[in-house]
Formats: sequence, C-alpha cells, structure tokens
Amino acid sequence: MPTEPEPTPAPALPKGRPAAELLAELRELRGQDAPTRGGRTFAYVYDAGVPGLDDLAAEAYRVHATVNGLDPTVFPSVLRLENDLVGAVNAVLGRPGAQGTLTSGGTESILLAVKTARDHARAERGVTRPQLVLPATAHAAFHKAAHYLGLETVTVPVDPETFRPAPADVAAALTDRTALVVASAPSYAHGVMDPVAEIAAAAAERDVLCHVDACVGGWFLPFLARTGRPVAPFDLTVPGVTSLSVDLHKYGYADKGASVVLYRDAHLRRHQYFAHARWPGYPVVNPTVQGTRPAGLAAQAWAVLHHLGDDGYTELTRQVADAADRLLPALRALPDVRVLGEPVGNLVAFTVTGPDATPDLARVLHMADEMRERGWYLQPQLAYGALPPNLHLTLTPATAAHVPALLNDLTEALTGARAAVAPVTVDPQLLALAAALDPDTLTPEEVAAVLAFADLGGEGRPPTRMAPVLMLLDALPVRLKERLMTEYVSALFQVRP
Ligand SMILES: *Cc1c(COP(=O)(O)O)cnc(C)c1O
Repeated sequence: MPTEPEPTPAPALPKGRPAAELLAELRELRGQDAPTRGGRTFAYVYDAGVPGLDDLAAEAYRVHATVNGLDPTVFPSVLRLENDLVGAVNAVLGRPGAQGTLTSGGTESILLAVKTARDHARAERGVTRPQLVLPATAHAAFHKAAHYLGLETVTVPVDPETFRPAPADVAAALTDRTALVVASAPSYAHGVMDPVAEIAAAAAERDVLCHVDACVGGWFLPFLARTGRPVAPFDLTVPGVTSLSVDLHKYGYADKGASVVLYRDAHLRRHQYFAHARWPGYPVVNPTVQGTRPAGLAAQAWAVLHHLGDDGYTELTRQVADAADRLLPALRALPDVRVLGEPVGNLVAFTVTGPDATPDLARVLHMADEMRERGWYLQPQLAYGALPPNLHLTLTPATAAHVPALLNDLTEALTGARAAVAPVTVDPQLLALAAALDPDTLTPEEVAAVLAFADLGGEGRPPTRMAPVLMLLDALPVRLKERLMTEYVSALFQVRP
C-alpha cells in the first residue's frame, strides 16, 4: 500500500528580534574584524582621520537610503548628486566635454570601461575577437573584466627593478584586434606610475582606446601636485587617454561603494549603456551593471567630497606624502628590506631578503603574521614571475601618525622573522598531496582532504597565521592555486545545516 509522503515542514525564519539586540550583535561581530579606524590596518580601509566625517557619511546615506537611483526621472535628486560628483571629478581629472558615471567601485568602473572599449571596437572598427593589452602590474579587475566579457588578455612584462613596462613593449603588443590598452596611475601592487603619456601616445597612433586606472591615485595625485611635489601627467588631458577610473571610496574617503569612470566624451560613453525595450516591463536604460542603484551611496560620497573640498583633500594628501617621506628612507635603511620601485607615496611595497640577499617569501609572510600579532595589518603579496613577494602598505592620514611605532615594530618583527624563518615551511607531504591534484578534475573530496591537511577546514573563520597557507599556495602551479583559492573561500562561505 503506498504510504502518504511525509509533509515537509515549511522552511521558517527565526522569529523577529528586537532592534537593540540586533544592533548589539552587529557591534559585537565587528569586534572580530581588523580595525577600520585608527590607522593600524594598512590595506582595504582609508581613514581620513577627520572628526565627524563618518557621521556625515552615515547621515547622508540615511537621507537617501530608500531612494532608487534606477530611475532618475522619478528621483531627480540622484541626477543632481551624480552630475555634481562626476562634474567634480571631471574638473580635476577630465577635460571639457568628458562624461562619466558613478559606479559601485573600481572593479565596476573597470568592467564598464572594458565593456565600452569592446563594444566600441566592434562598432567602429569591426573587431570581433577583441584583445586587452595590459602591463603585468595592472589590477586583477582587468583580467576579471576580460573573463566576464570575452576579451583575450595580452600581458606586457614590467621591469623587475622599476615595476614599469617599457612603452616600446606596450606599443609592440598592440594589434588590429586591440580594443583597449591599460596604464596604471599608480599600480596597486607597488604604487608606481606607468609611463602613461607614452602608452597613451602609442595607443593613439594605432587609433586604439587607452584607459588610465587611477582608482587608487586619481584622488591623491592631483592634490599631491598641489603640495608642490612632481606628478607625471596621467589624466584625460593627456593625448590618447580615452577613459579613466577613480575610486571615491579610496582617497576620496567616502564609504565603500563609490567610484567614477570618465570618458573623453558622451559618444564613447554611449557604448557603456544598456537599453532594452523588448520585454513587457518598464523601458530599461542601465548606465551601469546594476539595475536598482542605492542612491544612499551617491549621497554619502557627494557629502564627503564636498565637505572635504579642495583644501581638505590637499591637506590630507600632504599628511600622507609627509608620512611617505618619513617612512620610505627609514624602510630603505632597514637591514634585509628592499622597497620596490619608486612609489608615488600612497602605496608602499617592500620585500624582505634572506641570508643570500634574495627575496625570501618565508620571511615576508612571517613578518606579516608577526605584525598582525602586534596589532597591524600589512598585506602580503606573493611573487609573480620575476617580481618578488612583498608586504604592501596603504598610507592614509590616520596611518601617518603611526610611522615611528610602525618602524619600531617592523624592526622587532624583522629580528623575530630572522629567528623564526625555519618553522615557516610547507609540510612536504601536504605539498606532495596538493601538487598531485589536477585542477581540471579536482573533486570536492580531494579539495576537502587538502584543506583539512592544511588545517583550513573552513569553520567559517580564517586562520590567524596566514604564513603556512600562503607558503603552500606559492608552491603550487598557478591553475591549481586558483582552484584551491576558490575552494577555500567557498568553504568559508558555507551555511551550516
Ligand atoms: C582598488 C583598485 C582597483 C579595484 O577597485 P575596487 O574598488 O577594489 O573594486 C583597481 N585598480 C586599482 C589600481 C586599485 O587600487
């Protein structure tokens, strides 16, 4: 006799909880994080150290929190906010006639610039198999954009001493299929300027578009010039530069979720837009990747930018530049430390050398962990080709106050690192286990075995000492590395039954 199927219980959320309790829980959760204010976290966060600025941003967000930027004909205030913001960016970095868009961040600005170039190349030059030419130091977001949008990447090596590409090498990489060539001002990894004018000139000569990635430098370099320091031209006034990205959530000191992509004119920007009238819903015009757009983000960026103003940004930039002027010579004087390239001043990368005077990953990673235990976050970066592994620092006005303490702890950690180099190695058994994996046929069980062996089971919490993890990653072939990185983060974002 057929049995009745058991009724499955309806999925249920827990019952609603009081607001105060939830806010208290959020605050407690935040206690686990690296501090975003106070200047001891040298990556990911940008602290202007200006009293009241966070409150202003939060309050401005709140005013517009419920507004949908999707339809500016219904919410005209978002037009005013965005046109104001893009206008301000254009006044500093653009040129007459340039037009832009407010986006959610550098990655979205870059994604849109690449899409624009791809569609422009197809429409204007009949390019059907587009290429993206970029120096090896260009931000990973360009590779992501190429991956999403179906462009082939052509990577130009950089000099392992200057971390800059030779303009002739970039020029030689341009073909009839090149949709876009990239230059960074400066690069994220080492904070050095690409030869923007030369790259843009080479692009112009072949009638190819050129994007300047000023995500991290665009709201720093113009004010650095204002302090009297030399800054090589890099913006839309440079002949051949056709688009530019600048993150307001970096040196614009806005909260996360604000960047601008600028184009030489509206004609070029048109290729960024998506319009669709072939469905039964409302007529769609999306300038960005998003549909619904949080107008609160525009409002907070607008308020922060206009509150700080030209004088505020110049003063904040002076603080960062002064910090770099103190930090760089002191770093260069430390034994076994090598500052990479000639950074413009907001980002600094340095490697740590071993007994044979070559960069030593174990020491670099050990330093990162040592510094973390002392309450600092410095960002480890692995070797890439001839480019050495290093520690990366993002300087902001809040970090500037800590230069002497930072140097003191770096010196101590360096001694500690020298003493403790031997223990930071990869278990040969683990390496053998991992290296035998085929990234194309990797099963969930194999991944779980490696992660468990490496003590990375992913209980929703990352390990406190990252050195052994990164040592393992570094020793693996790149495709396998990418696979394991994906699986590791996927294991972190795991809901428990
Ligand atoms: C931060 C950064 C990006 C990516 O921006 P997100 O805001 O992190 O998406 C791209 N290029 C450079 C040079 C950057 O510094």
